[in-house]
Amino acid sequence: MTLNASPDEKQKTARPVVLERHCSVRRTVEIVLDSWSFLILRESFFGVKRFDKFQTRLGIPRQTLSNRLSKLVENGILSTGTRPNERGKQYFFTARGKDLFPTMLSLMEFGDKWLAGDELPPLQLTHKRCGKECRPITVCSECKTPVNAWDVAHRDGPGAGYSPPELRKSTRRNSDPKLLQRVRPCSVARSLSIIGDRWSFLILREGWFGVRRFDEMRENLGIATNILTDRLNHLVETGVLRKVPYNAAGDRYEYRFTKMGIDLYKPMLAMMAWGDRWLSDGNPPLKLRHKACGQDFHAQVVCSECLEPIDASATTHRLRYTLDE
Ligand SMILES: [Zn+2]
Ligand SMILES: [Zn+2]
Repeated sequence: MTLNASPDEKQKTARPVVLERHCSVRRTVEIVLDSWSFLILRESFFGVKRFDKFQTRLGIPRQTLSNRLSKLVENGILSTGTRPNERGKQYFFTARGKDLFPTMLSLMEFGDKWLAGDELPPLQLTHKRCGKECRPITVCSECKTPVNAWDVAHRDGPGAGYSPPELRKSTRRNSDPKLLQRVRPCSVARSLSIIGDRWSFLILREGWFGVRRFDEMRENLGIATNILTDRLNHLVETGVLRKVPYNAAGDRYEYRFTKMGIDLYKPMLAMMAWGDRWLSDGNPPLKLRHKACGQDFHAQVVCSECLEPIDASATTHRLRYTLDE
């Protein structure tokens, strides 16, 4: 996808305003950008399976926990069951849920690189298959080289189109930075608080489509002026976007990605790959081509040492912090 496409390159399909582009990333984001849902999923990856354990570890109100767990079960991310010789109901990942692990790792790759400050990443992974300590890296599924935002061309896939937007009325930020910092230092949580909420994410997505100016964003997204201003300020403050004057007088600005912002493209692609696999009925809205190798691809999260894909059962981890239980 080219980030500085001219206006006529950008829009191959006429876009009816107030309808929302079909997008696998957005579908994924709706799930992981809810702070509580994310925290529940993260603790599940750390092995938590019981209601009471989620509750004590996260300090989450029972009713909220109950709602979020039901929602995750409804969305097919978690399932409930019992185990022989173990008392009570437990929550397990479904295949779909387990497959969120690479997305989490891609967000971790970003957070480790940009948001850990002077500290070492909070979590050190070891890849069981090659036995080495590793970092997750997001690469092209075909040539296994890291994907760079400038190097991706996109075109409409079989699931392309527009639908009436869902959840349009919600204006609050559903990813709450304070909430996300609960329990443990976490690069994924840090990345999510950078992405912010659904609106911020939609603004970023417009950016990937080459949209840089306030008025065009407002028109494309049907977003209220004050919300757009607020979210753009947030994205500039967190260092994802920078404001650059585009007229001679220097009083009109456009919003461009910083280096850090460009890197956010990788977790976006990982989210898209997940959404394509699980939520698009085999009809991805967008097809991606990696210009570097000339092939259609999806994002894959692999071990930095052996370049094999990392799934949920393939790693062990060491914490660089202590967890208060
Ligand atoms: Zn490639
Ligand atoms: Zn490896």
